[in-house]
Amino acid sequence: GVPVLEVVDLVKKYRIGGGLFSRKHDYVHAVDGVSFTVPEGQTLGLVGESGCGKSTVARTVMRLVEPTSGQINIDGTDIAPLSRTEMQPYRRQLQIVFQDPFASLDPRLVAGDLVAEPLVVHGMGNAQERKERVEELFQRVGLRASQMSNYPHQFSGGQRQRIGIARALASRPRLIVADEPVSALDVSIQAQVINLLMDIQREQKISYLFIAHDLAVVAHISHRIAVMYLGRIVEYADKHDLFSKPLHPYTEALLMSVPVPNPAAMRERVLLKGELPSPINPPAGCHFHDRCRYAFGRCKVEQPVLREIDNGHFAACHLR
Ligand code: SF4
Ligand code: MG
Repeated sequence: GVPVLEVVDLVKKYRIGGGLFSRKHDYVHAVDGVSFTVPEGQTLGLVGESGCGKSTVARTVMRLVEPTSGQINIDGTDIAPLSRTEMQPYRRQLQIVFQDPFASLDPRLVAGDLVAEPLVVHGMGNAQERKERVEELFQRVGLRASQMSNYPHQFSGGQRQRIGIARALASRPRLIVADEPVSALDVSIQAQVINLLMDIQREQKISYLFIAHDLAVVAHISHRIAVMYLGRIVEYADKHDLFSKPLHPYTEALLMSVPVPNPAAMRERVLLKGELPSPINPPAGCHFHDRCRYAFGRCKVEQPVLREIDNGHFAACHLR
């Protein structure tokens, strides 16, 4: 069927500088031609180092940031060109969970009212129905009804993220964009939150675009995984294919840095040499060539395109 989300050739450029001393063409290509799909009831894990453009993808899909070009198809309708008013019916379908769900929320509201807020915004139900819906959501995310009257600062990190999830679920969306939802949590709490999201997906056929900087975090929850590097997807595959047979040297390096469950064997964290280069005027050729242990002459001059190498397994590398 038609995927819940289909992103086609998404581009987001920011012009920077603009003063007396900037060069004429200073810009950041935060997202540089990104395409992927998220089918109903599935999760796409979007992975990359901070600064690779994954949060810009998240915000653009939500239309919190205007795309420079490209399509954002929701159930087959491109929402990229829609005006604020035209976007209205789609807002309810798209919800986001942030790393810190309370950073953008009113600290003077109690948790129950924060979860009820989207229902009020979208005019869903009367006061009594909203109250029942919030009770149901609290129960679903594993919080007690008595906690509805507590203020955000009275909750632990994991509980706060449960409230963020309840709030995102309130309007019964088709897609939740989860932008590093567990990155600030302890590993044991991360697993609880991820299992909660997976249970909810099984029950409600909801789709997730799940963003993280760590492959280990998306391993369990994802059906497919897209790996981003400096604004582009460098590998895109079914989870099992990506883990068992990575085709891009960057993915290979990320996999090497995934900590193994055995603490004695843990932390061989390096292997990736150097830092992520600046997205302002990125390196010519393959953006990864400065850090790639397989780089050869062609890599410095020619940018590899993302191609299907095996069935459904895409990579952007001259070696393939
Ligand atoms: Fe490495 Fe070259 Fe492949 Fe880029 S194109 S990942 S530099 S081998
Ligand atoms: Mg980010």
